[in-house]
Amino acid sequence: IEQAISCGEGRCLILLDGAHDGADQITLGGSTWSVTPWSTGTTCNTCRRQFARPEPRLFSFHSPLGACPDCRGFGSVPVISFTKLVPDPRLSLREGAIAAWTTPAYSHELDELVDLAPDYGIPLDVPFAELSPAHLELITHGVPERDFGGLDGFFNWLERHRYKLSVRVFLNRWRAYDTCGHCGGGRLQPDALAVHLPSALDQQQRTIDQLAALPVAELRNVISKCQQHSGNLERDVHHTVLAPLATRLDCLHRVGLDYLTLDRPLRTLSSGEARRVLLTQALGASLVNTLYVLDEPTAGLHATDVSRLVKVIDDLVERGNSVVMVEHDTSVIEAADQVIDIGPAAGRHGGRLLFQGPPAELATCDDSVTGAHFSRRAPHCGPAARTAAGAIQINGATRHNLDHLDVSFPLGQLVVVAGVSGSGKSSLVQETLYPTLCQALDQPVPPELAHDDCLAAVTGFESLEQVTLVDASPIGRSARSIPATYLKAFDEIRRLFAATAESKQRGYTARQFSFNSSGGGRCEMCGGSGDIEVDMQFLADIHTTCPECSGRRFGREVLEVTHRNRSIADVLDMTVEEAFGFFRGEHKIRRRLQPLRDVGLDYLPLGQPTTTLSGGESQRLKLASFLSSKATRRTLFLLDEPTTGLHPADVEQLLDCLDTLLAVGHSVVVIEHHLGLIARADHVIELGPGGGPRGGQLIATGSPRDILSCAESVTGRHLSCYNQPPP
Ligand SMILES: [Zn+2]
Ligand SMILES: [Zn+2]
Ligand SMILES: [Zn+2]
Repeated sequence: IEQAISCGEGRCLILLDGAHDGADQITLGGSTWSVTPWSTGTTCNTCRRQFARPEPRLFSFHSPLGACPDCRGFGSVPVISFTKLVPDPRLSLREGAIAAWTTPAYSHELDELVDLAPDYGIPLDVPFAELSPAHLELITHGVPERDFGGLDGFFNWLERHRYKLSVRVFLNRWRAYDTCGHCGGGRLQPDALAVHLPSALDQQQRTIDQLAALPVAELRNVISKCQQHSGNLERDVHHTVLAPLATRLDCLHRVGLDYLTLDRPLRTLSSGEARRVLLTQALGASLVNTLYVLDEPTAGLHATDVSRLVKVIDDLVERGNSVVMVEHDTSVIEAADQVIDIGPAAGRHGGRLLFQGPPAELATCDDSVTGAHFSRRAPHCGPAARTAAGAIQINGATRHNLDHLDVSFPLGQLVVVAGVSGSGKSSLVQETLYPTLCQALDQPVPPELAHDDCLAAVTGFESLEQVTLVDASPIGRSARSIPATYLKAFDEIRRLFAATAESKQRGYTARQFSFNSSGGGRCEMCGGSGDIEVDMQFLADIHTTCPECSGRRFGREVLEVTHRNRSIADVLDMTVEEAFGFFRGEHKIRRRLQPLRDVGLDYLPLGQPTTTLSGGESQRLKLASFLSSKATRRTLFLLDEPTTGLHPADVEQLLDCLDTLLAVGHSVVVIEHHLGLIARADHVIELGPGGGPRGGQLIATGSPRDILSCAESVTGRHLSCYNQPPP
């Protein structure tokens, strides 16, 4: 047989005397033989299809060898989406139903279509929704004999020019993505997806994409079974593959990410989840003598997950590494070997070393705000401080893992939604309560949330006039948006400069002091933004300081006008606190700045672009703008983890700011892990018991004191530790 295979270049036929079940038969020399084809390697015996030899690269969708040829390893393919392209199907083609062709740069496409439409019977003046499939076919695939590429040709052209940022942005606006039909979303080419685990190890004979779609907890079971039966495998597979894989999965388990699947795109993880995934890389690497620098690893973590994370970090240290963490969480500070406290306040009032030493001594440090919070602790859990003014009742919430929840959100109270990571807090507040109320109150529902599973039955909203989601997304898109303009303080400041004697002499109005309108006094080289964008072709665009005005946004003449010896650019360099002092006597300006002090943003320079603010800062700036507007519409504010990145002293300030909102008749629902804030809530809603599929249940509701006495509540258990006086 060996010789036959070598002569047959890996293949041979075995002929057996007589008839055998299932085998082809031939007659040779008067007797019957049954023929069985055999081959070595990866060729199919029956149809001769040759499969690629398995090697690691074959199973990587980052490698050209493994990636699905249709979707190039993305698992999804761009498709033309008429819902995006034609936002208003009541418009006709001539009226610009195809929105992408109404922009000046591409309107020639529409002109071409209008020219040839009569010859092909495409009606130009009926609503787009009434066009026949044959018409849509022509619009989509084009008319080659008239040199009209249609939408296909248009998008192919854009695709070839996607190295330009503007084209990429434009494409994203109109394109939708669909699961790749070739690989079914598995991202790999057919030969890779044909390889499965042997049945001795896994009865279901799963392929690599099926394994990647399992939650970490289930995958751990599969792998540990493989380890038990690894006698059937080559010897080194155990050491080089199974053991390291089991360790990695174990790390994910230990940081509380049991419910994640390995194929989840990183960008769909919450920031807390993403940080912990990165942390497992460090844990899995088993490096020693390494210094790890972690920036707020507890952001977005429930108190339970925090204690688990502290254990993980302890392990890193025990293995001979060093860890430096930036952290606000008091339980993490307590667990540290050494605390370095910088302060005493933010921005220009900070930067001094206040304390360095073991956490136990921190409480005795008089200068340290951290220490003060350490020794005094937070206020004890009490009964609700405010009485509810009605309640919003949501029934049958099923978004993501929510298990047909019926939840009541009291109005006029500080309501906190708590629960371990992944328990469904965002699904309930941002993706159910928000869109449901938007619909009930006739506000536009965000398109990505306009699904049945985001909209639940709702009652009790009659006394509300609007709902506002104060999220941590960045404010504005350009360097032109700054705290001073966002709070409309800049209008008053410009008026003040226009009223100076110098301005009157030169005939300047408030317009000269605006960097947003042309023809005034702004620097025309950078258009008043202070920086210029450089197109880097294949790389992301970069910004550099404007060489003309050196980032000051204004031309030389305007800067010669001063108020109390300061130019308008000098004012933009001031922090909120400095400006508040500088504009003494100017009540209109100070009234605009006051909300920024109320939410603890007094250290921000007035001219800092809002795009550079952290998520927490953006959120508080939005709150400040609500506080400053005189609007009296009764509003429900939804906030997602507003304490992220806040020092305990700043949390107090945030609480004051929420108190103000409640005092004037608004309502507030907050997603929060911070025990200090939970303790001060009027009403707590806890989801759980676990994350992902193990979450989505209502565990406890009531005042913090009720939660404290609820045996099932993890939050209650942690609150009770928090409520103990320090040793
Ligand atoms: Zn075959
Ligand atoms: Zn594919
Ligand atoms: Zn400039």
